[in-house]
Amino acid sequence: MKRRPLLAGNWKMHATVLDACHLAADIAKTCAGLEDRDVVLAPPFTVLSQVAHMVAETGIFIAAQNVCWEAEGAFTGEISPLMVLDAGGGAAIVGHSERRQIFHEDNALINKRVRGALAFGLIPILCVGETLEERESGQTFKVVEEQVRAGLAGVETADMKETILAYEPVWAIGTGKTASTGQAQEVHAFIRNLVADIYEKDIADQVRILYGGSVKPDNIDVLMAQEDIDGALVGGAALNAESFGRIIHFQEI
Ligand code: PEP
Repeated sequence: MKRRPLLAGNWKMHATVLDACHLAADIAKTCAGLEDRDVVLAPPFTVLSQVAHMVAETGIFIAAQNVCWEAEGAFTGEISPLMVLDAGGGAAIVGHSERRQIFHEDNALINKRVRGALAFGLIPILCVGETLEERESGQTFKVVEEQVRAGLAGVETADMKETILAYEPVWAIGTGKTASTGQAQEVHAFIRNLVADIYEKDIADQVRILYGGSVKPDNIDVLMAQEDIDGALVGGAALNAESFGRIIHFQEI
């Protein structure tokens, strides 16, 4: 089944207001006339509304890099789904490996974020992936299964149609090491089967599963040629309009 490709740029903790405006404007130029794929930008919270404003007429979607589950309250340092919507965002990355590894967010917390996002109409982009140690000790599928099942616990079938998954092997993020196409496709197919098991095949056929981990202009084409890879979540290469532009235009050039 053909799913609409989605190319997402995660800016992580980069970009002042000025940098963000330049980058967003340059990326918007490369997206002119794009009709057959979705582009998502996930800037830091501080520039979310400026970037959303800049790309408002371009068809580019805006995502937050994380989201709380409550509308408001005593949650110092958190951003609510309503605030993301108010700033012009429509999605939120949840469970990024940097949140899991550096800030010790566990599956239960990530599940609250996924359900919180959905409750307010934001599309969650749920990230899963194994560490190098887990891969080398043969635990990849076990870890990924736990993260997918726990991350999606309580998510209704109707909401699952909107939810986006991202397989991001931790050892490939920001390291310059990309999973081989075989390694990536194998885990993507596994995740899709898992979604079919938890929900139904029809949902699994529709759900978009992005690959993330050192995606670059020179490996995007071959990654996107894999049956179960529906897009990319891009970190480093998304901070440069030319390289992200090439990624957006995969298999065209
Ligand atoms: C990411 O931030 O999700 C990511 C995959 O980063 P990079 O492309 O730099 O590996």
